Amino acid sequence: MAQAFLTCIHPSCGRREAVGATAPACAACASLLDVSYEFDRIAPADLRRLWRERLSSPASEDRSGVWRFRELLPFLPSTVAPVTMGEGGTPLVEAPRAGRWAGEVRLSAKHLGSNPTGSFKDLGMTACISAAVSTRAEVVACASTGNTSSSMAAYAARAGLSAVMLVPHDGISKAKLAQALEFGARVIEVRGSFDDAFRLLGELASRRSLRVVNSINPFRIEGQKTAVIELLEQRGWRAPDFLVLPGGNLGNVSAMGKGLRELAALGVLDRLPRLVVVQAAGAAPFYRGWASRGTIEPVAHPETEASAIRIGRPANWPKARRELEATRGLVECVTDREIEEAKAILASDGIGCEPASAATLAGVRKLRSTGRMPPAAEVVAILTGHQLKDTDYILRHQGSSESSRCVIEPDPDAACRALDALRVA
Ligand SMILES: *Cc1c(COP(=O)(O)O)cnc(C)c1O
Ligand SMILES: [Zn+2]
Repeated sequence: MAQAFLTCIHPSCGRREAVGATAPACAACASLLDVSYEFDRIAPADLRRLWRERLSSPASEDRSGVWRFRELLPFLPSTVAPVTMGEGGTPLVEAPRAGRWAGEVRLSAKHLGSNPTGSFKDLGMTACISAAVSTRAEVVACASTGNTSSSMAAYAARAGLSAVMLVPHDGISKAKLAQALEFGARVIEVRGSFDDAFRLLGELASRRSLRVVNSINPFRIEGQKTAVIELLEQRGWRAPDFLVLPGGNLGNVSAMGKGLRELAALGVLDRLPRLVVVQAAGAAPFYRGWASRGTIEPVAHPETEASAIRIGRPANWPKARRELEATRGLVECVTDREIEEAKAILASDGIGCEPASAATLAGVRKLRSTGRMPPAAEVVAILTGHQLKDTDYILRHQGSSESSRCVIEPDPDAACRALDALRVA
């Protein structure tokens, strides 16, 4: 049987705990924790075949794009059924116009917005809520820029747990707030930033019995790493040259890196793609810290319209740095204007996504223009959230244009004039 542990990531600590321990960080040094494993030895070809066969299985665990890969996340006791809603199984779509625009790269988009609540957070949440159930949590809690809380609310409802979310007042999109409310989460709006809400959550969790399900919860990372397994399977186990993600709290890049290293260690993958993190210029502490190879200087007042990555103090930065070092990764930052342009280009390929997700394409273009990414590179952009998560953004940018929208009386002449004005036919 495979074995799972919690391991402190600090190189001079490395403390190991049982996988059922519930503290949010290392009890000795307060560093982040990894879920680490002694995997069963299975031949790579057998693993690939097992995973493929489950695609035609009727069992809900097999139909989940997370639990289908359960050999790589063997942390649940066999008596606990995962809390799953068919997450994963998301499309990998070619994006030819976007690839040309970015500077003649071969681009495709792995769209994690096609998850039950519309973002990649569901991949982490199925794992972390299942772990919470297996260790008898009753109340789960998070600080959120919106998607973590939507996802937590759904999976908590499914599992019969209470959910509390701390969000920046007026700082998350209406759609995300509405989702969480419908799923019955309790909402505390904090007059402050995400970082204020996250700090407050830590203080609250030391006073009340709350299970924190932010991405410092290492089980989140375990679920999210399956995105890279599924992606590689969709590509016939051929790694792209670059795998590009937006960076906020840096949980997702940490997850992708861990997944890649584990696939390589098991012999399922023979070459690692280079991970690329793209931050918004107004919220780019990791970009700056990486450029200077120093520690992270938090940004006190992070600013970007891409609210999902409006984070000034990324909690997972030590893990993110480890994964970028392991994959000879790159970090880039882009302006809101560049994000807006990239989002419109993706839309011209018929691909909608959240503003934060479009930062990936903007980052690729910038890396091409500065020569840090070669032409014809094979690039996969991880699109993190669904187009409809932030329609206010779209209406602000595209909806006000007179060349795309008009109002008329129900009259055929007026309709013809409208076609002329809109330059259609
Ligand atoms: C959470 C989120 C991000 C940021 O991911 P991190 O793991 O915090 O770096 C990016 N885009 C969307 C849509 C998100 O919901
Ligand atoms: Zn430690």
